[in-house]
Amino acid sequence: MSDCLFCKMVAGDIKPDVLYSDEHVLAIRDINPQAPFHALVLPREHIATLNDLTPAHAAVVGHMYLAARELAGQHGFAADGYRTVVNCNRLAGQTVYHIHLHVLAGRAMHWPPG
Ligand code: 5GP
Ligand code: ZN
Repeated sequence: MSDCLFCKMVAGDIKPDVLYSDEHVLAIRDINPQAPFHALVLPREHIATLNDLTPAHAAVVGHMYLAARELAGQHGFAADGYRTVVNCNRLAGQTVYHIHLHVLAGRAMHWPPG
């Protein structure tokens, strides 16, 4: 997707602060952090929303969560805890239409979320 911000990051045309990278996903630091630690895990493949997932994407979704686990461990948040979030479409507040897993940590999280 040539007009997708996160595809441009995957392609290397835009260079974000990369925290983790493997053959399936890229994790970047969020430009507008909502917690002391705020990363986004994005698949290298363009998938617009959770609604567009198919069974063929099961492995890549699994790798997104494995990357979140890796980030939390590397940055020292595994034991105290962290929040993972995927926003889908307008009412959830999705603004970038290439799925991404938010990984938030470093403060107490509220429930229910806003
Ligand atoms: P959404 O609202 O779609 O769930 O999350 C999109 C996220 O992407 C937001 O948290 C926003 O701050 C982040 N974001 C938007 N543009 C950029 C950018 O250019 N660079 C980085 N690193 N994050 C971005
Ligand atoms: Zn994309």
